[in-house]
Amino acid sequence: MFEVAERIQNLPPYLFAEIDRLKAEVAKKGLDIIDLGVGDPDIPTPKEIIEVAKTAVEDSSNHQYPSYVGMFEFRESCANWYKTRFNVDIEPNDEVVSLIGSKEGIAHLPLAFVNPGDFVLVPAPGYPVYPVATMFAGGNSYIMPLEEKNSFLPDIDKIPEDILKKTKIMFINYPNNPTAATADEGFYKKIIELAKKYNFIIASDNAYSEIYYGDYKPMSFLEVDGAKDVGVEFHSLSKTFDMTGWRIGFALGNKDVVAGLGKVKTNIDSGIFQAIQVAGKYALDNSETLNKPIRKIFQERRDQMATALEKAGFEFKTPKATFYFWVKVPKGFTSAEFTKKMLEEKGIVVTPGNGFGAPGEGYFRISITNPRIKEAVERIKSAL
Ligand SMILES: *Cc1c(COP(=O)(O)O)cnc(C)c1O
Repeated sequence: MFEVAERIQNLPPYLFAEIDRLKAEVAKKGLDIIDLGVGDPDIPTPKEIIEVAKTAVEDSSNHQYPSYVGMFEFRESCANWYKTRFNVDIEPNDEVVSLIGSKEGIAHLPLAFVNPGDFVLVPAPGYPVYPVATMFAGGNSYIMPLEEKNSFLPDIDKIPEDILKKTKIMFINYPNNPTAATADEGFYKKIIELAKKYNFIIASDNAYSEIYYGDYKPMSFLEVDGAKDVGVEFHSLSKTFDMTGWRIGFALGNKDVVAGLGKVKTNIDSGIFQAIQVAGKYALDNSETLNKPIRKIFQERRDQMATALEKAGFEFKTPKATFYFWVKVPKGFTSAEFTKKMLEEKGIVVTPGNGFGAPGEGYFRISITNPRIKEAVERIKSAL
């Protein structure tokens, strides 16, 4: 037997394993299951993107090792897209790095900037990659709880000064997974000021900027004055174009941060298959046309889900962005107890809030990435 390294032994238990076990048990009893647990869109990638990729796959000039930082043409499209979408100026040469999905970049960032003993500010509930990547780099996570009374924004005045002095990176993520909260310019201004004062990097995870509803349109952290002095933004084609399986994303902003991340990547991976970059470039260049129908589908599902949850008497805010609902667990239940009940009695899989970190206790997350939303909605209406 080979003993795994401490960094693996120290990983938090895989919370979804218990859900998977329960799911199998319930399925065995013959109950039909609708999975609203995973945040992976069921909608296929737009056909035009697939066609561009097919042609690019056949082109032998795409068959060799790609450039580590990404094809210039792809990085240029990332920069152009930030200009048209957010009016942010980005230099494609040294302010963009392509990523094998933004998860890859998020996971590698601490390796570039965190020394043992350094702190990383991590939101919870939140994407588990932030604390795990911090631990892998030998750093310590300082948990910033996201609480309803603060609109699920971290209360930065609560972070102790001795932690701030040892902080290298702050992770933030708006529109937020799992709470669906959004951030405005005032919040970004505050954290930029803090980052300048204590000399740390802001890593803004903007994976959901193109999944928005009604009149609301999310902003980029990089739109705010001074953002590029202190940080980068991670973006992903996964949610924007239903391309989760393709593994393509990018980081852009501060060039020292981009260079640091690039350095780690040069020593670990060899970039994204060029045919996928060609398809990604096409997607970004035609973003509005390709993203609009996707948004429309999620908007319909969001409206149906909001109506159903309201009818059933659940406590929640209708999301302005993301494909998640962050819902209060009814009185008398823990998150785990209630999600178990939903599964056993209604055949509906939802994610217990504490799976995203202890401050998520008391909530559950619904993901509307399932085509059977109408049936799910019927079952949820009778859940309480
Ligand atoms: C989906 C998601 C990502 C992006 O993942 P990819 O690796 O780009 O597919 C990043 N952050 C959050 C919070 C997410 O939910």
